[in-house]
Amino acid sequence: MNFPVTRMRRLRRTEAMRSLVRETHLHPGALIYPLFICPGEGVRKPIGSMPGVFNLSLDEAMKEAEACAALGIGGLLLFGLPAEKDEQASGAWADDGIVQTALRAFKANRRLDTLVTMADVCLCEYSSHGHCGVVARDGDHYTIENDSSVALLAKTAASLAKAGADIVAPSDMMDGRVAAMRETLDASGHEQTPILSYASKFASAFYGPFREAADSAPLFGDRRSYQMDGANLREAMREIELDIAEGADMLLMKPAMPYLDVIQEARQRFDLPMGAYQVSGEYSMLHAAFERGWLEPERTMMESLTGIRRAGADFIVTYFAKDAAKVLG
Ligand SMILES: [Zn+2]
Repeated sequence: MNFPVTRMRRLRRTEAMRSLVRETHLHPGALIYPLFICPGEGVRKPIGSMPGVFNLSLDEAMKEAEACAALGIGGLLLFGLPAEKDEQASGAWADDGIVQTALRAFKANRRLDTLVTMADVCLCEYSSHGHCGVVARDGDHYTIENDSSVALLAKTAASLAKAGADIVAPSDMMDGRVAAMRETLDASGHEQTPILSYASKFASAFYGPFREAADSAPLFGDRRSYQMDGANLREAMREIELDIAEGADMLLMKPAMPYLDVIQEARQRFDLPMGAYQVSGEYSMLHAAFERGWLEPERTMMESLTGIRRAGADFIVTYFAKDAAKVLG
């Protein structure tokens, strides 16, 4: 039935009416806030390219975590900036590593019981070369070795689970890492620790500001031999299928906004819980526009998050988590 019988505007007349027929909802429990933990005390070092985001020493990170819990945010995703880096990224799996130490402290604080703690599993923040795996050099050439990297990543996952991570989240994109982590976790008594796999992670220019935040820019080369080509949707589906077959419990899609079609396709094909990471560049470019007065901060932020959820993400890792939770009240 067409106009004038059908008038779409009837259901848009008032906010109450619009609210009644709204199809997509956001809630604070589906937002995950990333934290960058650094050594020291009382450290709250601003990230120049990410307004409102800081490198935080553990005492400051604890305050942030408590604020997140009070806002009803679903969880935290932890990244570490170790005091020292080496070729083998040994800080990633050290018992007294920066994230391991933070996890133990968070777990001892009952005010954080409502937060799910996710630990990023990767080597780039801990390696002197800044790559997500073991580098093999041959003269001027280098390769990022797969299988030796996977062994270190599995060790890292077990170490983070032991320290109290509720979920381990491998972000490296090495082949076979999920199976190796599952085996190592199970063998070390962590058979109840879920793996949130960054199954579909593209080699994206939108990660730029994160590298400042996590001090993880590669010293040489780039990550295109392990992260996916941004042009490939079918390859992303194969990556997800493989990770599910290897035992992934949940999926994380990264980045979000430039890849909403990939999120939608994954939602249609797979039934696992799925999150999306609104990455640093997505956050920074919106903030740059806010600062110039070109975009209205609150509405733009909420629209960017709603779009990701509408595409099919169950939860969103976002630097806007606290701001959005305040709006959602
Ligand atoms: Zn990495």
